[in-house]
Amino acid sequence: MHGFSYKNGSLFCEDIELSTLASEYGTPLYVYSAATILDHYRRLDAALNGVDHEVAYAVKANSNLSVLRLLANEGAGFDIVSGGELFRVIKAGGDPAHCTFAGVGKTKEEIVYALEQGIYSFNVESAEELTYLNEVAAELGVIAPAAVRVNPNVDAQTHKYISTGKSENKFGVDFEAIAGLYDHAASHLPNVRMRGLQMHIGSQLTSISPFIEAVEKVAPLAASLKAKHGIEFWSIGGGIGIIYKESLESGSLDWWENQPEVERPLTIERYGKEIVPRLKDLGLKILVEPGRFIVGNAGVLLTRCLYEKKGSAKTFKIVDAGMNDLIRPALYEGHHEIVPLKQPTSDVRKPVDVVGPICESGDFFCQNRELPDIQPGDTIALMSAGAYGFAMASNYNTRPLPAEVLVEGSTSTVIRKRQTLEDVIAGEL
Ligand SMILES: *Cc1c(COP(=O)(O)O)cnc(C)c1O
Repeated sequence: MHGFSYKNGSLFCEDIELSTLASEYGTPLYVYSAATILDHYRRLDAALNGVDHEVAYAVKANSNLSVLRLLANEGAGFDIVSGGELFRVIKAGGDPAHCTFAGVGKTKEEIVYALEQGIYSFNVESAEELTYLNEVAAELGVIAPAAVRVNPNVDAQTHKYISTGKSENKFGVDFEAIAGLYDHAASHLPNVRMRGLQMHIGSQLTSISPFIEAVEKVAPLAASLKAKHGIEFWSIGGGIGIIYKESLESGSLDWWENQPEVERPLTIERYGKEIVPRLKDLGLKILVEPGRFIVGNAGVLLTRCLYEKKGSAKTFKIVDAGMNDLIRPALYEGHHEIVPLKQPTSDVRKPVDVVGPICESGDFFCQNRELPDIQPGDTIALMSAGAYGFAMASNYNTRPLPAEVLVEGSTSTVIRKRQTLEDVIAGEL
C-alpha cells in the first residue's frame, strides 16, 4: 500500500493535502508518508516470520535522518555502503551492532571507523579486501567480523545498470571461489572472523524466479560454510521490486488482489512464501537488505509547471524539477507516474514530454506520454520517488537541493530544509 490518494478532487499524502505543502514549502519538494514506510517494513518482517531473520534497510535508497530514525525505532538493522552512511545511522539512533557494511571500495578510514563502532559484519567483495581487512584489524588489535559476497551468476532480469549478480559485474566473489576463500581465511587471516555469507543479485526485481534461482544455488554453499566454519548468518540481499506504472491506483490493496495472477507484480507475501521454506532448515540467521521496497512507493516529488512549449514536433511541459533532483529516468530509464495534484475532471489525454530546466537532453521525466492537461502554474506529483530520488540529487547547474517533508497522519514535518545558494557555495574559495 501507499499513503497517496485523491480525496475530494485533490491529491493527499495520508491526511495532508499535497497542494498545501507545495504552497507552504515551495517546489521541487519531496514528500514521504511515514505510514507507508512502516507498513512496508512490517509486512516484509511478517513475511519472513517462519525463519530467524533481520531486515537491514539499505540506507542508500533514502538516507534522511528522520527516515532512518523511523526504522531504527521499529528495530530495523541497516545495510550501509560507506562510512558516511554509518555516521548517519548512528546520528539517527541506529545500533552499529545491527549494521552490515557492503561495497567494493572501502577505504582504510571507513574500515577503522566501522571497527571502532562495532558493526555486525563487513560484507567483503574481494579476496584482496579480505586480506586488507585482516591487516587493518591486526593494526588495531581487534578481530573483524566478515562475510564474503558471493556472486551467484544469475540473471536478475532487470535494467543492466542495476544488475549485480552476473560474473561480468564488479560485485562479489565468484561462486566457485568462495569455499577456498573461507578456508584461506581460517588458516591465514587470524584477525577476521567469518561470521556469515552475503549476496545481492540486483535491484528492482519484479519476478520471483531470480530470487529462487539464487537461493537454491547458494543454499548448499551456505550450509557447508556453516558446518565447516561456523557462520551464523546469510544475507540474501535486497532488490525486491516495486510498481512504478499505475502506482497511484495500485496503492489500494483491493487493486492488488484483483489483478490476474500473471500480471500481478511480485508481492511481499509471495516473496516470503517462496523464500522462507527454502531457508528455514539451514539454521542460519537470514538477513534481507531492502531499500527500494521500503521507501520507493512512500515518496513523491512535487514540481510546478513553468511553461508549456509547443514545438513543431512535440509539446513540452517544462517543470521546476530537473534530473539533478530525480535522476532515475536519465540514469536507468526509470518510469515515474505523473499525476496532477488537482484530480483531472476530463478523460482527455495528450502526448507530452515533461522536462526539467537542466541543460541536458536527458533531462526529462517522460517522453510522448499521454497525460491529462497540465497548465503553467499547476503542480504535479512524480510518484514513487522515495527511493534513489533525493539520495541521488545533486547541485548540477547550481541548483539548491530540494526540501524534504515527512507526513505522519495529519502532521507534516520538514525533515530537510531547502538548500540556500549560500549553502551551495559554502566551502568554496
Ligand atoms: C543497493 C543495495 C541494496 C538495496 O537494493 P534495493 O534494490 O534498493 O532493495 C541491498 N544490498 C546491497 C549490497 C546493495 O548494494
